[in-house]
Amino acid sequence: MSENFGAGFDTHVVSNQPPPLENYNLYTSHLALREAVTREGAGWADAEIAAAGAEIGTTEWFARGVAANRHPPELRRFDRFGNPLDTFEFHPAWHDCLGWLKGHGVDTGAWADPVPGAHVRRAALFQLFAEIEPGALCPTTMTYGAVPAVSREPDLAAEWLPRLLSPRYDARFLPAAQKTGAMMGMGMTEKQGGSDVRANTTRAEPVGDGSYRLVGHKWFFSASMSDAFLVTAQAPGGLSCFFLPRFTPDGRINPIRHQRAKDKLGDRSNAGAEVEFQGTLARRVGEEGRGIPTVIEMATYTRLDCANGTTGLMRAAVAQALHHASHRKAFGARLIEQPLMRNVLADLALELEAAVALSMRVARCFDRQDDEAEQILRRLLTPIAKYWICKRGANVAVEAMEVLGGNGYVEESPMPRLYRQMPLNSIWEGSGNIMCLDVLRAIARTPNALDVLAAELAPALGRNPGFDRFVSRLKDAFSRPDGMEVVARRLVEQLALALQASLLIRFAPEPVATAFCASRLDGDWGNAFGTLPGGSDFEGILSRAWPERVG
Ligand SMILES: Cc1cc2nc3c(=O)[nH]c(=O)nc-3n(C[C@H](O)[C@H](O)[C@H](O)COP(=O)(O)OP(=O)(O)OC[C@H]3O[C@@H](n4cnc5c(N)ncnc54)[C@H](O)[C@@H]3O)c2cc1C
Repeated sequence: MSENFGAGFDTHVVSNQPPPLENYNLYTSHLALREAVTREGAGWADAEIAAAGAEIGTTEWFARGVAANRHPPELRRFDRFGNPLDTFEFHPAWHDCLGWLKGHGVDTGAWADPVPGAHVRRAALFQLFAEIEPGALCPTTMTYGAVPAVSREPDLAAEWLPRLLSPRYDARFLPAAQKTGAMMGMGMTEKQGGSDVRANTTRAEPVGDGSYRLVGHKWFFSASMSDAFLVTAQAPGGLSCFFLPRFTPDGRINPIRHQRAKDKLGDRSNAGAEVEFQGTLARRVGEEGRGIPTVIEMATYTRLDCANGTTGLMRAAVAQALHHASHRKAFGARLIEQPLMRNVLADLALELEAAVALSMRVARCFDRQDDEAEQILRRLLTPIAKYWICKRGANVAVEAMEVLGGNGYVEESPMPRLYRQMPLNSIWEGSGNIMCLDVLRAIARTPNALDVLAAELAPALGRNPGFDRFVSRLKDAFSRPDGMEVVARRLVEQLALALQASLLIRFAPEPVATAFCASRLDGDWGNAFGTLPGGSDFEGILSRAWPERVG
Protein backbone atom coordinates (compact mmCIF):
# COMPACT_ATOMS: atom_id res chain seq x y z
CA MET A 1 0.00 0.00 0.00
CA SER A 2 2.69 2.49 1.07
CA GLU A 3 4.87 1.54 -1.92
CA ASN A 4 2.06 2.24 -4.32
CA PHE A 5 1.34 5.46 -2.52
CA GLY A 6 4.98 6.56 -2.88
CA ALA A 7 5.15 5.47 -6.49
CA GLY A 8 2.12 7.57 -7.21
CA PHE A 9 4.01 10.63 -6.06
CA ASP A 10 6.81 9.95 -8.53
CA THR A 11 4.47 11.41 -11.12
CA HIS A 12 4.51 14.71 -9.29
CA VAL A 13 6.95 16.66 -11.45
CA VAL A 14 7.49 20.33 -10.80
CA SER A 15 8.13 22.21 -13.99
CA ASN A 16 8.04 25.73 -15.31
CA GLN A 17 8.78 27.21 -11.88
CA PRO A 18 11.80 29.54 -11.65
CA PRO A 19 14.67 28.87 -9.26
CA PRO A 20 14.96 31.31 -6.34
CA LEU A 21 16.75 34.53 -7.17
CA GLU A 22 19.78 34.49 -4.90
CA ASN A 23 23.55 34.09 -4.93
CA TYR A 24 24.13 36.94 -7.30
CA ASN A 25 25.89 40.26 -6.86
CA LEU A 26 23.26 42.86 -5.97
CA TYR A 27 25.60 45.66 -7.01
CA THR A 28 27.53 44.61 -10.09
CA SER A 29 24.29 43.36 -11.63
CA HIS A 30 22.67 46.75 -10.98
CA LEU A 31 24.18 48.90 -13.72
CA ALA A 32 22.13 52.00 -12.95
CA LEU A 33 23.37 52.08 -9.37
CA ARG A 34 26.94 51.21 -10.22
CA GLU A 35 27.15 53.98 -12.79
CA ALA A 36 25.57 56.45 -10.37
CA VAL A 37 28.08 55.64 -7.65
CA THR A 38 30.97 56.60 -9.91
CA ARG A 39 29.18 59.57 -11.45
CA GLU A 40 28.27 61.05 -8.08
CA GLY A 41 31.75 60.80 -6.62
CA ALA A 42 32.19 57.44 -4.88
CA GLY A 43 33.90 55.46 -7.64
CA TRP A 44 36.74 54.85 -5.20
CA ALA A 45 34.34 52.64 -3.20
CA ASP A 46 33.29 50.52 -6.20
CA ALA A 47 35.30 47.43 -5.23
CA GLU A 48 34.13 47.60 -1.63
CA ILE A 49 30.48 48.00 -2.64
CA ALA A 50 30.88 45.14 -5.12
CA ALA A 51 32.17 42.91 -2.33
CA ALA A 52 29.21 43.96 -0.18
CA GLY A 53 26.81 43.26 -3.05
CA ALA A 54 28.24 39.77 -3.46
CA GLU A 55 28.07 39.06 0.26
CA ILE A 56 24.49 40.13 0.91
CA GLY A 57 23.23 38.62 -2.35
CA THR A 58 23.77 35.15 -0.91
CA THR A 59 21.12 32.65 0.15
CA GLU A 60 22.21 33.14 3.77
CA TRP A 61 21.53 36.87 3.74
CA PHE A 62 18.19 36.55 1.99
CA ALA A 63 17.28 33.98 4.67
CA ARG A 64 18.24 36.42 7.43
CA GLY A 65 15.89 39.01 5.97
CA VAL A 66 13.08 36.47 5.94
CA ALA A 67 13.80 35.26 9.48
CA ALA A 68 13.97 38.77 10.98
CA ASN A 69 10.49 39.44 9.64
CA ARG A 70 8.98 36.03 10.31
CA HIS A 71 10.03 36.33 13.96
CA PRO A 72 9.25 39.93 14.87
CA PRO A 73 10.58 41.47 18.09
CA GLU A 74 8.73 40.79 21.33
CA LEU A 75 8.08 43.54 23.82
CA ARG A 76 9.48 42.79 27.28
CA ARG A 77 7.93 45.31 29.64
CA PHE A 78 9.17 43.63 32.82
CA ASP A 79 11.80 41.12 33.81
CA ARG A 80 10.73 37.91 35.53
CA PHE A 81 10.93 39.59 38.94
CA GLY A 82 8.58 42.36 37.93
CA ASN A 83 11.19 45.06 37.43
CA PRO A 84 10.46 47.34 34.45
CA LEU A 85 12.59 46.48 31.43
CA ASP A 86 10.82 48.30 28.62
CA THR A 87 12.72 46.75 25.77
CA PHE A 88 12.35 44.27 22.93
CA GLU A 89 13.83 40.87 22.27
CA PHE A 90 14.83 40.19 18.67
CA HIS A 91 15.56 37.19 16.51
CA PRO A 92 19.33 36.71 15.99
CA ALA A 93 18.90 37.59 12.31
CA TRP A 94 17.97 41.15 13.28
CA HIS A 95 21.22 41.52 15.19
CA ASP A 96 23.14 40.09 12.22
CA CYS A 97 21.59 42.78 10.04
CA LEU A 98 22.43 45.63 12.38
CA GLY A 99 25.90 44.19 12.90
CA TRP A 100 26.48 44.27 9.14
CA LEU A 101 25.09 47.77 8.74
CA LYS A 102 27.10 49.25 11.59
CA GLY A 103 30.19 47.30 10.61
CA HIS A 104 30.02 48.79 7.12
CA GLY A 105 29.39 52.30 8.44
CA VAL A 106 25.96 52.53 6.85
CA ASP A 107 24.88 54.45 9.93
CA THR A 108 27.75 56.81 10.66
CA GLY A 109 30.61 55.90 8.33
CA ALA A 110 30.17 59.11 6.35
CA TRP A 111 30.73 61.09 9.58
CA ALA A 112 33.54 58.92 10.89
CA ASP A 113 35.49 59.16 7.64
CA PRO A 114 34.12 62.20 5.80
CA VAL A 115 36.04 61.80 2.54
CA PRO A 116 34.44 63.16 -0.65
CA GLY A 117 31.82 60.66 -1.79
CA ALA A 118 31.30 59.17 1.67
CA HIS A 119 27.56 59.93 1.67
CA VAL A 120 27.18 58.52 -1.85
CA ARG A 121 28.98 55.36 -0.80
CA ARG A 122 26.68 54.84 2.17
CA ALA A 123 23.61 55.68 0.06
CA ALA A 124 24.55 52.83 -2.28
CA LEU A 125 25.05 50.40 0.61
CA PHE A 126 21.75 51.56 2.11
CA GLN A 127 19.94 50.85 -1.16
CA LEU A 128 21.51 47.42 -1.45
CA PHE A 129 20.63 46.43 2.09
CA ALA A 130 17.03 47.56 1.57
CA GLU A 131 16.75 44.58 -0.78
CA ILE A 132 17.55 42.25 2.12
CA GLU A 133 15.96 43.70 5.25
CA PRO A 134 14.61 47.26 5.26
CA GLY A 135 13.45 47.24 8.91
CA ALA A 136 17.03 47.37 10.20
CA LEU A 137 17.55 50.50 8.12
CA CYS A 138 15.27 52.46 10.47
CA PRO A 139 17.70 52.68 13.42
CA THR A 140 20.51 52.90 10.88
CA THR A 141 19.20 56.08 9.29
CA MET A 142 18.13 57.60 12.61
CA THR A 143 21.68 57.18 13.89
CA TYR A 144 23.01 58.73 10.67
CA GLY A 145 20.67 61.71 11.05
CA ALA A 146 21.31 62.21 14.78
CA VAL A 147 25.04 62.84 14.45
CA PRO A 148 24.88 66.48 13.23
CA ALA A 149 22.53 67.39 16.10
CA VAL A 150 24.65 65.63 18.71
CA SER A 151 27.77 67.28 17.26
CA ARG A 152 26.35 70.72 18.07
CA GLU A 153 26.66 70.17 21.81
CA PRO A 154 30.34 69.88 22.79
CA ASP A 155 29.78 67.91 26.02
CA LEU A 156 27.35 65.54 24.40
CA ALA A 157 29.58 65.14 21.37
CA ALA A 158 32.64 64.36 23.48
CA GLU A 159 30.77 61.64 25.33
CA TRP A 160 28.57 60.16 22.61
CA LEU A 161 30.23 60.63 19.22
CA PRO A 162 32.89 57.94 19.79
CA ARG A 163 30.09 55.43 20.46
CA LEU A 164 27.92 56.55 17.59
CA LEU A 165 30.84 56.59 15.15
CA SER A 166 32.04 53.20 16.29
CA PRO A 167 31.71 50.48 13.64
CA ARG A 168 30.86 47.92 16.33
CA TYR A 169 27.28 46.92 16.93
CA ASP A 170 26.62 46.12 20.55
CA ALA A 171 23.13 44.76 21.20
CA ARG A 172 23.48 44.50 24.95
CA PHE A 173 20.90 46.32 27.07
CA LEU A 174 23.46 48.23 29.10
CA PRO A 175 24.42 51.84 29.81
CA ALA A 176 26.17 53.15 26.70
CA ALA A 177 29.39 53.79 28.65
CA GLN A 178 29.77 50.00 28.98
CA LYS A 179 29.18 49.31 25.29
CA THR A 180 31.42 49.24 22.25
CA GLY A 181 29.01 51.10 20.00
CA ALA A 182 25.69 52.94 20.20
CA MET A 183 22.67 53.68 18.01
CA MET A 184 19.91 56.27 18.19
CA GLY A 185 16.21 56.71 17.57
CA MET A 186 13.91 59.70 17.62
CA GLY A 187 10.48 60.65 18.90
CA MET A 188 8.37 63.53 17.69
CA THR A 189 4.95 62.10 16.87
CA GLU A 190 2.28 62.28 19.56
CA LYS A 191 -1.34 61.16 19.49
CA GLN A 192 -2.74 64.61 18.83
CA GLY A 193 -0.29 65.46 16.05
CA GLY A 194 2.57 64.05 14.04
CA SER A 195 3.08 66.30 11.05
CA ASP A 196 2.31 69.31 13.22
CA VAL A 197 5.08 68.84 15.77
CA ARG A 198 4.14 72.16 17.38
CA ALA A 199 1.10 70.35 18.78
CA ASN A 200 3.41 68.31 21.09
CA THR A 201 2.17 68.32 24.68
CA THR A 202 5.07 66.47 26.32
CA ARG A 203 6.51 68.82 28.92
CA ALA A 204 10.19 69.33 29.76
CA GLU A 205 10.83 70.68 33.24
CA PRO A 206 14.34 72.03 33.96
CA VAL A 207 15.94 70.14 36.85
CA GLY A 208 18.39 72.91 37.67
CA ASP A 209 21.64 71.23 36.67
CA GLY A 210 21.08 71.84 32.95
CA SER A 211 19.09 68.66 32.45
CA TYR A 212 15.32 68.26 32.17
CA ARG A 213 12.64 65.79 33.24
CA LEU A 214 10.17 64.87 30.49
CA VAL A 215 6.53 64.07 31.24
CA GLY A 216 4.30 63.02 28.37
CA HIS A 217 4.22 60.42 25.61
CA LYS A 218 5.21 59.48 22.07
CA TRP A 219 2.74 57.68 19.83
CA PHE A 220 5.32 56.24 17.42
CA PHE A 221 8.69 55.43 18.90
CA SER A 222 10.63 53.20 16.53
CA ALA A 223 13.74 51.21 17.42
CA SER A 224 13.02 51.81 21.07
CA MET A 225 15.89 49.49 22.03
CA SER A 226 18.28 52.25 20.89
CA ASP A 227 20.86 53.69 23.27
CA ALA A 228 19.52 57.23 23.03
CA PHE A 229 16.88 59.29 21.24
CA LEU A 230 16.31 62.79 20.00
CA VAL A 231 12.84 63.84 21.12
CA THR A 232 10.77 67.00 21.11
CA ALA A 233 9.01 68.47 24.13
CA GLN A 234 7.66 71.79 25.39
CA ALA A 235 10.24 73.53 27.57
CA PRO A 236 9.50 76.84 29.33
CA GLY A 237 10.98 78.63 26.30
CA GLY A 238 8.91 76.67 23.77
CA LEU A 239 9.22 73.47 21.74
CA SER A 240 12.76 72.16 22.10
CA CYS A 241 14.84 69.15 21.13
CA PHE A 242 16.21 66.80 23.77
CA PHE A 243 18.77 64.03 23.93
CA LEU A 244 17.26 61.20 25.90
CA PRO A 245 19.60 58.36 26.93
CA ARG A 246 18.23 54.87 27.60
CA PHE A 247 20.05 54.81 30.94
CA THR A 248 20.57 57.70 33.34
CA PRO A 249 24.15 58.73 34.21
CA ASP A 250 23.98 56.72 37.46
CA GLY A 251 23.34 53.56 35.43
CA ARG A 252 19.60 53.15 36.05
CA ILE A 253 17.08 52.49 33.28
CA ASN A 254 15.66 55.86 32.23
CA PRO A 255 11.85 55.53 32.53
CA ILE A 256 10.63 55.17 28.95
CA ARG A 257 7.52 53.20 29.79
CA HIS A 258 6.40 51.01 26.91
CA GLN A 259 2.62 50.87 26.76
CA ARG A 260 2.18 48.82 23.60
CA ALA A 261 4.15 47.49 20.67
CA LYS A 262 2.93 48.85 17.34
CA ASP A 263 1.22 46.21 15.23
CA LYS A 264 2.27 47.41 11.78
CA LEU A 265 1.28 46.54 8.23
CA GLY A 266 4.91 45.91 7.29
CA ASP A 267 8.33 46.69 8.72
CA ARG A 268 7.70 43.72 10.98
CA SER A 269 11.33 43.11 11.92
CA ASN A 270 11.62 46.56 13.46
CA ALA A 271 10.39 47.37 16.94
CA GLY A 272 7.97 50.26 17.29
CA ALA A 273 6.20 51.27 20.47
CA GLU A 274 3.91 53.72 22.19
CA VAL A 275 5.82 55.10 25.14
CA GLU A 276 5.23 57.30 28.12
CA PHE A 277 7.82 59.56 29.71
CA GLN A 278 7.41 59.59 33.47
CA GLY A 279 10.02 62.07 34.58
CA THR A 280 12.46 60.78 31.99
CA LEU A 281 15.87 62.45 32.19
CA ALA A 282 17.05 64.33 29.10
CA ARG A 283 19.54 66.96 27.96
CA ARG A 284 18.61 69.83 25.70
CA VAL A 285 20.06 69.99 22.19
CA GLY A 286 20.07 73.44 20.64
CA GLU A 287 18.31 76.45 22.11
CA GLU A 288 15.04 76.31 24.00
CA GLY A 289 12.23 77.06 21.58
CA ARG A 290 14.32 75.99 18.55
CA GLY A 291 13.36 72.33 18.60
CA ILE A 292 11.87 72.19 15.14
CA PRO A 293 14.97 73.33 13.21
CA THR A 294 17.07 70.91 15.26
CA VAL A 295 14.94 67.85 14.52
CA ILE A 296 14.35 68.94 10.94
CA GLU A 297 18.11 68.82 10.43
CA MET A 298 17.99 65.18 11.50
CA ALA A 299 14.97 64.61 9.27
CA THR A 300 16.88 65.89 6.24
CA TYR A 301 19.12 62.84 6.48
CA THR A 302 16.36 60.38 7.22
CA ARG A 303 14.31 61.78 4.33
CA LEU A 304 17.21 61.14 1.98
CA ASP A 305 17.17 57.58 3.25
CA CYS A 306 13.43 57.24 2.64
CA ALA A 307 14.27 57.81 -1.02
CA ASN A 308 17.26 55.48 -0.80
CA GLY A 309 15.32 52.75 0.97
CA THR A 310 12.42 52.86 -1.48
CA THR A 311 14.81 52.80 -4.42
CA GLY A 312 16.38 49.64 -2.99
CA LEU A 313 12.95 48.08 -2.47
CA MET A 314 12.05 48.97 -6.06
CA ARG A 315 15.19 47.26 -7.27
CA ALA A 316 14.30 44.14 -5.31
CA ALA A 317 10.78 44.10 -6.77
CA VAL A 318 11.92 44.72 -10.35
CA ALA A 319 14.69 42.12 -10.04
CA GLN A 320 12.17 39.51 -8.88
CA ALA A 321 9.87 40.39 -11.77
CA LEU A 322 12.63 40.18 -14.37
CA HIS A 323 13.91 36.94 -12.95
CA HIS A 324 10.49 35.33 -12.93
CA ALA A 325 9.67 36.50 -16.45
CA SER A 326 12.94 35.20 -17.82
CA HIS A 327 12.24 31.68 -16.52
CA ARG A 328 8.49 31.25 -16.67
CA LYS A 329 6.80 30.15 -19.89
CA ALA A 330 3.19 30.73 -20.91
CA PHE A 331 1.50 30.14 -24.24
CA GLY A 332 4.65 28.54 -25.64
CA ALA A 333 7.18 31.26 -24.88
CA ARG A 334 8.98 32.74 -21.90
CA LEU A 335 7.15 35.69 -20.38
CA ILE A 336 10.07 37.93 -21.18
CA GLU A 337 9.57 37.16 -24.86
CA GLN A 338 5.93 38.23 -24.82
CA PRO A 339 5.64 41.75 -26.26
CA LEU A 340 3.16 43.04 -23.72
CA MET A 341 5.15 41.68 -20.80
CA ARG A 342 8.28 43.33 -22.21
CA ASN A 343 6.43 46.61 -22.08
CA VAL A 344 5.49 46.08 -18.41
CA LEU A 345 9.02 45.11 -17.43
CA ALA A 346 10.67 47.91 -19.37
CA ASP A 347 8.30 50.44 -17.83
CA LEU A 348 9.18 49.17 -14.35
CA ALA A 349 12.88 49.23 -15.20
CA LEU A 350 12.56 52.87 -16.31
CA GLU A 351 10.97 53.83 -13.02
CA LEU A 352 13.87 52.20 -11.21
CA GLU A 353 16.48 53.90 -13.39
CA ALA A 354 14.89 57.25 -12.61
CA ALA A 355 14.70 56.57 -8.87
CA VAL A 356 18.35 55.53 -8.75
CA ALA A 357 19.50 58.56 -10.74
CA LEU A 358 17.60 61.02 -8.56
CA SER A 359 18.35 59.49 -5.17
CA MET A 360 22.07 59.24 -5.88
CA ARG A 361 22.16 62.79 -7.21
CA VAL A 362 20.60 63.97 -3.95
CA ALA A 363 23.13 61.91 -1.97
CA ARG A 364 25.92 63.86 -3.68
CA CYS A 365 24.49 67.12 -2.28
CA PHE A 366 25.17 65.68 1.19
CA ASP A 367 28.82 65.24 0.26
CA ARG A 368 29.17 68.85 -0.84
CA GLN A 369 28.19 70.69 2.32
CA ASP A 370 30.70 73.48 1.61
CA ASP A 371 29.15 74.32 -1.78
CA GLU A 372 26.33 76.87 -1.63
CA ALA A 373 24.50 75.75 -4.77
CA GLU A 374 24.67 72.11 -3.69
CA GLN A 375 23.20 73.08 -0.32
CA ILE A 376 20.29 74.86 -1.98
CA LEU A 377 19.80 71.76 -4.12
CA ARG A 378 19.98 69.55 -1.04
CA ARG A 379 17.24 71.61 0.61
CA LEU A 380 15.02 71.33 -2.49
CA LEU A 381 15.83 67.91 -3.86
CA THR A 382 15.55 65.97 -0.60
CA PRO A 383 11.77 66.49 -0.13
CA ILE A 384 11.22 66.26 -3.90
CA ALA A 385 12.96 62.88 -4.05
CA LYS A 386 11.32 61.62 -0.87
CA TYR A 387 7.88 62.55 -2.14
CA TRP A 388 8.11 61.19 -5.64
CA ILE A 389 10.24 58.09 -5.25
CA CYS A 390 8.25 56.94 -2.22
CA LYS A 391 4.97 57.61 -4.02
CA ARG A 392 6.09 55.48 -6.97
CA GLY A 393 7.36 52.64 -4.79
CA ALA A 394 4.00 51.10 -3.94
CA ASN A 395 2.93 51.16 -7.60
CA VAL A 396 6.13 49.45 -8.64
CA ALA A 397 5.69 46.77 -5.97
CA VAL A 398 2.12 45.92 -6.94
CA GLU A 399 2.92 45.71 -10.64
CA ALA A 400 6.07 43.65 -10.05
CA MET A 401 4.02 41.32 -7.88
CA GLU A 402 1.59 40.77 -10.73
CA VAL A 403 4.45 39.70 -13.01
CA LEU A 404 4.86 36.69 -10.72
CA GLY A 405 1.18 35.87 -11.06
CA GLY A 406 -0.25 33.94 -8.11
CA ASN A 407 3.24 33.11 -6.87
CA GLY A 408 3.71 36.79 -6.12
CA TYR A 409 0.75 36.87 -3.77
CA VAL A 410 1.76 34.07 -1.41
CA GLU A 411 3.69 34.74 1.75
CA GLU A 412 6.60 32.47 0.80
CA SER A 413 7.39 34.88 -2.01
CA PRO A 414 9.40 38.03 -1.27
CA MET A 415 6.74 40.16 -2.92
CA PRO A 416 4.24 40.56 -0.03
CA ARG A 417 6.98 41.86 2.25
CA LEU A 418 8.14 44.37 -0.38
CA TYR A 419 4.56 45.43 -0.99
CA ARG A 420 3.80 45.97 2.69
CA GLN A 421 7.00 47.87 3.27
CA MET A 422 6.51 50.33 0.45
CA PRO A 423 3.99 52.83 1.91
CA LEU A 424 6.00 53.36 5.07
CA ASN A 425 8.71 55.57 3.60
CA SER A 426 6.00 57.74 2.12
CA ILE A 427 4.22 58.16 5.48
CA TRP A 428 6.96 58.64 8.04
CA GLU A 429 9.40 61.55 8.25
CA GLY A 430 6.87 63.80 6.56
CA SER A 431 3.98 62.30 4.62
CA GLY A 432 3.39 63.13 0.96
CA ASN A 433 1.53 66.41 1.39
CA ILE A 434 3.97 67.62 4.01
CA MET A 435 6.85 67.00 1.62
CA CYS A 436 5.15 68.94 -1.16
CA LEU A 437 4.39 71.87 1.12
CA ASP A 438 7.99 71.74 2.30
CA VAL A 439 9.22 72.07 -1.28
CA LEU A 440 7.07 75.16 -1.80
CA ARG A 441 8.31 76.61 1.48
CA ALA A 442 11.92 75.97 0.50
CA ILE A 443 11.41 77.64 -2.86
CA ALA A 444 9.71 80.65 -1.27
CA ARG A 445 12.34 81.10 1.42
CA THR A 446 15.54 80.32 -0.47
CA PRO A 447 16.90 83.13 -2.60
CA ASN A 448 17.94 81.79 -6.00
CA ALA A 449 16.12 78.49 -5.46
CA LEU A 450 14.53 78.47 -8.92
CA ASP A 451 17.77 79.66 -10.55
CA VAL A 452 19.69 76.82 -8.94
CA LEU A 453 17.05 74.33 -10.07
CA ALA A 454 17.14 75.76 -13.59
CA ALA A 455 20.93 75.46 -13.63
CA GLU A 456 20.64 71.81 -12.61
CA LEU A 457 18.27 71.11 -15.50
CA ALA A 458 20.06 73.23 -18.10
CA PRO A 459 22.77 70.76 -19.23
CA ALA A 460 20.06 68.40 -20.50
CA LEU A 461 18.27 71.02 -22.62
CA GLY A 462 18.42 70.81 -26.40
CA ARG A 463 18.67 67.03 -26.50
CA ASN A 464 15.06 65.93 -26.20
CA PRO A 465 12.26 68.20 -27.47
CA GLY A 466 9.73 66.73 -25.03
CA PHE A 467 12.03 67.56 -22.13
CA ASP A 468 12.56 71.11 -23.40
CA ARG A 469 8.81 71.68 -23.66
CA PHE A 470 8.21 70.19 -20.22
CA VAL A 471 10.82 72.43 -18.57
CA SER A 472 9.39 75.48 -20.30
CA ARG A 473 5.87 74.69 -18.99
CA LEU A 474 7.31 74.11 -15.52
CA LYS A 475 8.96 77.53 -15.53
CA ASP A 476 5.60 79.06 -16.47
CA ALA A 477 3.90 77.26 -13.59
CA PHE A 478 6.36 78.73 -11.09
CA SER A 479 5.97 82.22 -12.50
CA ARG A 480 2.45 82.37 -10.98
CA PRO A 481 3.06 81.96 -7.26
CA ASP A 482 -0.58 82.43 -6.18
CA GLY A 483 -2.66 79.34 -5.48
CA MET A 484 0.28 76.98 -5.48
CA GLU A 485 -0.63 75.07 -2.32
CA VAL A 486 -3.63 73.37 -3.84
CA VAL A 487 -1.51 72.12 -6.74
CA ALA A 488 1.63 71.40 -4.71
CA ARG A 489 1.61 67.68 -5.50
CA ARG A 490 1.32 68.35 -9.20
CA LEU A 491 4.18 70.85 -9.12
CA VAL A 492 6.49 68.65 -7.06
CA GLU A 493 5.76 65.66 -9.26
CA GLN A 494 6.69 67.71 -12.30
CA LEU A 495 9.88 68.93 -10.66
CA ALA A 496 10.80 65.36 -9.81
CA LEU A 497 10.11 64.16 -13.34
CA ALA A 498 12.12 67.00 -14.84
CA LEU A 499 15.06 66.23 -12.55
CA GLN A 500 14.88 62.51 -13.28
CA ALA A 501 14.62 63.12 -17.01
CA SER A 502 17.56 65.54 -16.97
CA LEU A 503 19.75 62.95 -15.30
CA LEU A 504 18.68 60.18 -17.66
CA ILE A 505 19.18 62.39 -20.73
CA ARG A 506 22.68 63.25 -19.57
CA PHE A 507 23.85 59.94 -18.26
CA ALA A 508 21.65 56.96 -19.22
CA PRO A 509 21.70 55.14 -22.56
CA GLU A 510 19.51 56.74 -25.20
CA PRO A 511 16.69 54.11 -25.14
CA VAL A 512 16.16 54.77 -21.41
CA ALA A 513 16.06 58.56 -21.70
CA THR A 514 13.89 58.55 -24.82
CA ALA A 515 11.25 56.22 -23.39
CA PHE A 516 11.25 58.05 -20.05
CA CYS A 517 10.70 61.44 -21.66
CA ALA A 518 8.08 60.15 -24.13
CA SER A 519 6.06 58.46 -21.39
CA ARG A 520 6.49 60.59 -18.27
CA LEU A 521 6.97 64.02 -19.84
CA ASP A 522 5.39 63.99 -23.26
CA GLY A 523 2.09 62.25 -22.51
CA ASP A 524 2.71 59.13 -24.63
CA TRP A 525 1.74 56.85 -21.75
CA GLY A 526 -1.26 55.30 -19.99
CA ASN A 527 -2.30 55.15 -16.36
CA ALA A 528 -0.68 51.81 -15.55
CA PHE A 529 2.79 50.38 -16.08
CA GLY A 530 3.17 48.58 -19.39
CA THR A 531 1.92 51.46 -21.50
CA LEU A 532 5.17 52.69 -23.06
CA PRO A 533 4.96 53.70 -26.72
CA GLY A 534 5.07 50.64 -28.99
CA GLY A 535 8.18 51.91 -30.75
CA SER A 536 10.26 52.05 -27.55
CA ASP A 537 13.61 50.25 -27.59
CA PHE A 538 12.55 47.58 -25.10
CA GLU A 539 15.71 45.57 -25.54
CA GLY A 540 17.82 48.65 -24.93
CA ILE A 541 16.00 49.32 -21.65
CA LEU A 542 15.80 45.73 -20.42
CA SER A 543 19.35 44.74 -21.28
CA ARG A 544 20.57 46.96 -18.44
CA ALA A 545 18.26 45.60 -15.82
CA TRP A 546 18.83 41.83 -15.52
CA PRO A 547 19.62 40.86 -11.95
CA GLU A 548 21.70 37.84 -12.88
CA ARG A 549 24.26 39.68 -14.96
CA VAL A 550 27.74 38.27 -14.50
CA GLY A 551 29.67 41.26 -13.21
C1 LIG B 1 5.98 52.35 11.05
C2 LIG B 1 6.07 53.77 11.52
C3 LIG B 1 7.14 54.16 12.27
C4 LIG B 1 7.24 55.45 12.75
N1 LIG B 1 8.30 55.79 13.54
C5 LIG B 1 8.34 57.03 14.08
C6 LIG B 1 9.40 57.39 14.98
O1 LIG B 1 10.30 56.62 15.26
N2 LIG B 1 9.38 58.62 15.52
C7 LIG B 1 8.40 59.52 15.25
O2 LIG B 1 8.45 60.63 15.78
N3 LIG B 1 7.38 59.20 14.41
C8 LIG B 1 7.34 57.99 13.83
N4 LIG B 1 6.31 57.65 12.99
C9 LIG B 1 5.22 58.59 12.82
C10 LIG B 1 5.19 59.28 11.48
O3 LIG B 1 6.31 60.10 11.31
C11 LIG B 1 3.86 60.03 11.43
O4 LIG B 1 2.83 59.07 11.42
C12 LIG B 1 3.77 60.95 10.23
O5 LIG B 1 4.69 62.01 10.37
C13 LIG B 1 2.36 61.54 10.06
O6 LIG B 1 1.89 62.07 11.27
P1 LIG B 1 0.46 61.63 11.83
O7 LIG B 1 0.39 60.16 11.86
O8 LIG B 1 0.21 62.35 13.10
O9 LIG B 1 -0.58 62.13 10.76
P2 LIG B 1 -1.14 63.62 10.56
O10 LIG B 1 -0.08 64.62 10.90
O11 LIG B 1 -2.44 63.75 11.20
O12 LIG B 1 -1.34 63.63 8.98
C14 LIG B 1 -2.35 62.85 8.35
C15 LIG B 1 -2.35 63.17 6.88
O13 LIG B 1 -2.66 64.56 6.70
C16 LIG B 1 -1.70 65.15 5.86
N5 LIG B 1 -1.54 66.55 6.28
C17 LIG B 1 -1.11 67.02 7.46
N6 LIG B 1 -1.07 68.37 7.43
C18 LIG B 1 -1.48 68.76 6.21
C19 LIG B 1 -1.64 70.01 5.55
N7 LIG B 1 -1.34 71.16 6.18
N8 LIG B 1 -2.08 70.02 4.29
C20 LIG B 1 -2.37 68.89 3.64
N9 LIG B 1 -2.23 67.68 4.19
C21 LIG B 1 -1.78 67.61 5.46
C22 LIG B 1 -0.43 64.33 6.02
O14 LIG B 1 0.39 64.42 4.86
C23 LIG B 1 -1.00 62.93 6.20
O15 LIG B 1 -1.24 62.35 4.94
C24 LIG B 1 6.22 56.38 12.46
C25 LIG B 1 5.14 56.00 11.66
C26 LIG B 1 5.06 54.71 11.20
C27 LIG B 1 3.89 54.31 10.36
